[in-house]
Amino acid sequence: MGDQIVRAISEEGCFKAAAILSTGIVERARQIHKTLPTATAALGRVLTAASMMGNMQKIEDGSLTLQIRGDGPLGTLLAVSDAAGNVRGYVDNPQISLLEKYRGKLDVGAAVGKGTMTVIRDLRMKEPYVGTIDLVSGEIAEDVTNYFARSEQIPTACALGVLVDLDQSVKAAGGYLIQMLPGAPDSVIGRIEEDIRRAGAVTGVLSRGLDAEGLLRAVLPDFSLEILETTPVEYRCYCSRERVTATLISLGRKELREIADEGRDIHIGCQFCDADYVFTPSEIGELLKTI
Ligand code: ZN
Repeated sequence: MGDQIVRAISEEGCFKAAAILSTGIVERARQIHKTLPTATAALGRVLTAASMMGNMQKIEDGSLTLQIRGDGPLGTLLAVSDAAGNVRGYVDNPQISLLEKYRGKLDVGAAVGKGTMTVIRDLRMKEPYVGTIDLVSGEIAEDVTNYFARSEQIPTACALGVLVDLDQSVKAAGGYLIQMLPGAPDSVIGRIEEDIRRAGAVTGVLSRGLDAEGLLRAVLPDFSLEILETTPVEYRCYCSRERVTATLISLGRKELREIADEGRDIHIGCQFCDADYVFTPSEIGELLKTI
């Protein structure tokens, strides 16, 4: 089953919701960054949240960046989503040693530590919208919930889950985001909370092999949902040789001359994917002629 995001609205119009199956995205991130399980879970949660938030933003050509800066061993985590929910990301330290709350339960909060969460919304206007809050727990889902409540005044429920297999590959990943619409009665909020509590951890629901719509319906069995859209999503990087070339040119003549004079190929890796752009000394020489 491929990764996908489903967006829905409750038929009573009290809330909107999105759910995502992101197993492929998180596994791709693991392969690119060679993350060990604790980092796989943390980066996977950040990618999963950013993808839903980018998709829900509904701004054509917009993008959303979710950055977690903690003082824990992982360092900074960052994910960028396009308007559809295709996402890319990285973590400073992908290979920290295993941190568990108890056997089999990765301790993402301890790995992230104390710090801040920043959301940057590029809404295709002059300035992006930037909101920063202190982390509540570093568990990511709780922090996203708190971000929406504090920074955007939207009552939100968010859950994220990454299940890492014994061979360290990603067995399942996904999550959901439920947001109350203005005027929703407290009784509905109470029923949603009750449904969420009963559904239990996302990883448990995901292990039943559901798709994104199935996940959302499993979490909210008490509500009739109108599905608005289902979008396939993937780990997607937008780097290119042209962009890297532009970066090289921006270094300026003097620095490029020095690089060319060293007489060796230079490798420029992308921080988001496994692309490795190689420039030979003669290619650098050609670049020098253009500036
Ligand atoms: Zn790339």
